[in-house]
Amino acid sequence: MKDIKLHDKTFEIYIPETEIAEIVNSVATAINNSGVEKPLFIAVLNGSFLFAADMMRKITIPNSEISFIKLSSYQGTESTGKVNELIGLNQDLKGRNIIILEDIIDTGNTLEKIIELFQNEELTSFKTATLLYKPKAYNKDIPIDFIGKSIPNDFVVGYGLDYEEIGRNLPHIYKLKN
Ligand code: 5GP
Ligand code: MG
Repeated sequence: MKDIKLHDKTFEIYIPETEIAEIVNSVATAINNSGVEKPLFIAVLNGSFLFAADMMRKITIPNSEISFIKLSSYQGTESTGKVNELIGLNQDLKGRNIIILEDIIDTGNTLEKIIELFQNEELTSFKTATLLYKPKAYNKDIPIDFIGKSIPNDFVVGYGLDYEEIGRNLPHIYKLKN
């Protein structure tokens, strides 16, 4: 398949959409079989919008809900380590079974920040699901409950993931070409 150019960089195909669909299916199946009741999925925007949309169509747990938050730690192709404020969470989380939906977990800074923000809420349970995970970059002790696919420390785009805001619409996931 053809390489693509976004801004100044060239990307090559890495995870075709057929494989993405299989990964999404496997994550949804694991959550469906986990025994969680009446979950409140919280998708982390912008990157997770397609993953969240595709996942929810495969979730069969009765009374599932979804909400969206926004919080970002990336500039260009490297994590800045800084995490911005949280927007979008205004419902009562007391007694809820939360499942975070992330597009990708890299250093874990974003996840750590989300957990801090949820610390004072009297949640019944808190779990994390991510489409992609970079184990070599992850530097936290927080367990990740549902992982779609572990990948090397490559910069990836497509299927919701951007390079300086473009590329989110690509149906496949691409990686930076060296
Ligand atoms: P972390 O806080 O774990 O370092 O990074 C999490 C966020 O950084 C993700 O939600 C995602 O927006 C962004 N990110 C991390 N790795 C990549 C990548 O390879 N490509 C893109 N486009 N974004 C990434
Ligand atoms: Mg993001």
